[in-house]
Amino acid sequence: MENVALSAFTPNERILMGPGPSPVPQRVLRALAAPTLGHLDPQYLAIMDHTCAMLREVFRTKNALTFPVSGTGMAGMECIAVNLLERGDEAIVGVNGVFGTRMKDVMERCGATVHAVEATWGEVITPEQIAAALDAHPKAKLVAIVHAETSTGALQPLQGLAELIHARGALFVVDAVTSLGGHELRVDEWGIDAIYSGTQKCLSCPPGLAPVSFGDRALAVMDARKTKVQSWYLDVSMLRKYYTGGGGGGRVYHHTAPINMTYALHEALTIVLEEGLDARVERHAQMHRRLRAGLEAMGLSYIPKHSLHSLNCIGIPAGADDAKVRRRLLDEYGIEIGAGLGPMAGKAWRIGLMGHGATVRNVDLVLAALRTVLA
Ligand SMILES: *Cc1c(COP(=O)(O)O)cnc(C)c1O
Repeated sequence: MENVALSAFTPNERILMGPGPSPVPQRVLRALAAPTLGHLDPQYLAIMDHTCAMLREVFRTKNALTFPVSGTGMAGMECIAVNLLERGDEAIVGVNGVFGTRMKDVMERCGATVHAVEATWGEVITPEQIAAALDAHPKAKLVAIVHAETSTGALQPLQGLAELIHARGALFVVDAVTSLGGHELRVDEWGIDAIYSGTQKCLSCPPGLAPVSFGDRALAVMDARKTKVQSWYLDVSMLRKYYTGGGGGGRVYHHTAPINMTYALHEALTIVLEEGLDARVERHAQMHRRLRAGLEAMGLSYIPKHSLHSLNCIGIPAGADDAKVRRRLLDEYGIEIGAGLGPMAGKAWRIGLMGHGATVRNVDLVLAALRTVLA
């Protein structure tokens, strides 16, 4: 390797307004730089326990088994899938974008037969579709759905689904990667049995941890497994002995927790709770409305009918060069926005207003920059 000065890798400060990661506050970056402790050091365990307690508040749950999985949001998805499903099981998955598609793939890799409930990208899944799928597949062990489809910008309503799903004896599983900390989300009140998220979207923490929470029904399903969890690293029956201190023997080494990332998440959650969940959700709503008004005044239109606040998916106007516009935003303004994915590639832009990035300053800046670049 050439002897390149390390300073050559100094990253620029960007204004992250894409589908994630979102901008990280200095307080969180400083927390990352605190001294590394051992993963069984009582001081570290206290920090981790407090992090889990704050996660319960942010998820609005009393679930004891709530902790950050080591890995990004996708590790959370895999963790839920491998622990709840066994070879030969059946599952129902809402597929209306990239992440529903991935969830189906991940669950099939667990050996499950997955029945997709589909909607056009940008649309949401209806309760009638879920009910029909449960009628057609009465053996389904779980119904999984994406709350905030980051690939299309659609917000999936979740209220009322638990009653349908529980009436058929299935578990209600939710992907909340782009909603936790940005949209209203009530795990206990909405009857969600297992949920995963990520640190790098509305929590405004670097990518690296995946908060998850399992309720009693999910625990019972895991305890009744006939086979070992396919993934050693993500096996909750072992992880819970470390994260909850359960299992009789106190804390048991499984893998070394990402210590400094836990500090970062602790600080990010502290910031979330200082602001207050309701105020934070309201700020995301207000910034979404401000952005939307500005974009629509420029003649741009939203693709999804039920738009997320945290992710704004708009059609690329005729005559605009997708890659060139995004490149100019990055080079001239330091602003990152997202490209379209899958069937929306070349047709959509995705503007994230997540956590620390959902500010008047960012909204007005991206509007001004787009106006200039599109002129
Ligand atoms: C970003 C995202 C994921 C994956 O998270 P990573 O941190 O990229 O692993 C999963 N689901 C949704 C809805 C997402 O937006």
